[in-house]
Amino acid sequence: MKKLLIALGIFALIYFAATLIVPPYIESQRNPVKSPPPYSVSEEAKATYDRLGFISDLHCDGLLWGRDLTKKGSRGHVDFPRMRESNVALEMFTIVSKSPAGQNMQSNSSDAFDNITPLTIAKGESPANWFSLINRTLSQSKQLADFIDEEEGKAILVKSKADLQNLIEVRKTNPSIIGGMLGIEGAHALEGDLENLDRVYEAGVRMIGLTHFFDNKLGGSAHGQSQAGLTDFGREVVRKMNDLGIFVDLAHCSPAIVDDVLEITTMPVMVSHTGVRAVLDSKRNLSDLHIRKIAENGGIIGIAFFDEAVGVPELPNIIASIKHVRDLVGIEYVALGSDYDGSVAVPFDITGFPLLVEGMMNAGFREAEIRAVMGENVKRFFLQNLR
Ligand SMILES: [Zn+2]
Repeated sequence: MKKLLIALGIFALIYFAATLIVPPYIESQRNPVKSPPPYSVSEEAKATYDRLGFISDLHCDGLLWGRDLTKKGSRGHVDFPRMRESNVALEMFTIVSKSPAGQNMQSNSSDAFDNITPLTIAKGESPANWFSLINRTLSQSKQLADFIDEEEGKAILVKSKADLQNLIEVRKTNPSIIGGMLGIEGAHALEGDLENLDRVYEAGVRMIGLTHFFDNKLGGSAHGQSQAGLTDFGREVVRKMNDLGIFVDLAHCSPAIVDDVLEITTMPVMVSHTGVRAVLDSKRNLSDLHIRKIAENGGIIGIAFFDEAVGVPELPNIIASIKHVRDLVGIEYVALGSDYDGSVAVPFDITGFPLLVEGMMNAGFREAEIRAVMGENVKRFFLQNLR
């Protein structure tokens, strides 16, 4: 008996030590920054950046890694202090609940080994989250709400149009107040149960990507095996999301799902982090036809920052992707969708946002266009469509 207790004690100690060491190690490996901060830009670009009224990004997986987002991190790409450093008003924090080993861009099986299971255990999360996708999702939602609570008014969880109006108003006198929204990456998180939509809505989720790296009960992933459109259950989920006022995110969806959603949705759609096929012809990127259809729907397209979305080298290709959407359908449909902390190598962390402004200036963008891309489009989109 005594030996058993000693063995259990040693095991508990090793497990506790692992929760402190393993997640930071994994994160530093999975989310590198190619050029570390600080970043410098021309005087002119800095002046233009400083004149921006509202800066926003549509996709970041910062909640996944167990890092305290209220503290400035020495790893990863986003946290509240770094948002303040670059004057970012609103970030969409998206929840990843399952991800296949290998994260193949071409094809993944839905029963591939799930990388998030060992990470969840290594983070020291409650055993209730170890094998439950919905519990993992609700737990990460609560994590953002808790971080925001800790900020005692210096951060706002944006769940409604009124919250966003409040954020805009308070930032007029105190620009250090930041906003966070909640999204989900992959509706497998609902575990096939429509009632879980109510639970995530209650938790503050306002955007859901229907698929992630593999096919699920709603339909096919861009990186899945079936390439199928929406199933009957998928249609039900989209209708209920429309009813509740949760945005459909088409990132990672099969082209057939993009078509099916655009046919039935009563709300404008989002593509939170993507590239365009005209710049990089990849499975996860939008065709010109889909960019046109999304613009017709009044949707918004966030351009991602990593090489598998835009190609190498990143910054010129990020600008080329933004430019392509502008030239095809108009500047009002394009925004930033970094995919920061999304298991990707990025050219700069969120404090490098001025580099985007310099890049757009060099590519001949007008100041009004730069303002639109850097956040005014997101602000307008949510003011028009959040309830
Ligand atoms: Zn993604």
